[in-house]
Amino acid sequence: MCALKRNLNQSPNSQASAVKALWDFASAISELLYPALCIVCERRYASGQYSICPFCWKLTLRNRSSSKDTSDSAEDSDLSRQIPAISLGAYESPLADILQKFKYEGFIALGERLSLAMVHLRKERILSLKADAILPIPLHISGLKSRGFNQARVISDIVSMATGLPVAGNVVEKVVKTRNQAKLSAPQRQHNLAGAFVATESEWTGKRVIVIDDVITTGATIAEVGKTAEEAGVEVVGAVALSSAIEFCSIPVSAEF
Ligand SMILES: [Zn+2]
Repeated sequence: MCALKRNLNQSPNSQASAVKALWDFASAISELLYPALCIVCERRYASGQYSICPFCWKLTLRNRSSSKDTSDSAEDSDLSRQIPAISLGAYESPLADILQKFKYEGFIALGERLSLAMVHLRKERILSLKADAILPIPLHISGLKSRGFNQARVISDIVSMATGLPVAGNVVEKVVKTRNQAKLSAPQRQHNLAGAFVATESEWTGKRVIVIDDVITTGATIAEVGKTAEEAGVEVVGAVALSSAIEFCSIPVSAEF
């Protein structure tokens, strides 16, 4: 206490360092008494900015393989063509747990952190697609109101910042409120999304875009948005997500391309 009293009688700089020292001391005590819980494994750890322990982050970034089965999706047909699906990895723990927290519990900083990691690891592949812009999958207005943010837009903003590609936010609009896709089969997903998107007047006609989503499961959403964009004359050259179960997405062939 005497040392503190002496410090408070000193110059503003000395006072500032005394206050900082006190703050650091209080923070250290607080961390000792109330260590943060990792939201994935629930182990206690010295608190960090993103609520994920270093062990879970390491595991997340080690999950590099994003392909489980591409056997029936990697070939072009007369009705569709394949575009690469680039992601951080497969939909497995802990990546899947972090994505759930991001999307359904509003941990936006976690989504941004994952997006940064993804774009850091995949930047060359993304740029090799030679796109003019990136296109976040839009939410229906009711979904946007209830969630408060569009997760694809959060990812897109980070990808845009890291690659310099602009966000083309006005190419496609979601006009039908669809069922949650999580428990639907591939044909049900296609049926669920049919007609859900419409193309809007856009300055991106004639340009190349990369579609951005949080998770690619069967590629049904990418296909539907891709088809809608291409009918409006915007070419889709790739898909980027934080997690993907497939390495290629099928885009129905449009008369435009
Ligand atoms: Zn953990």
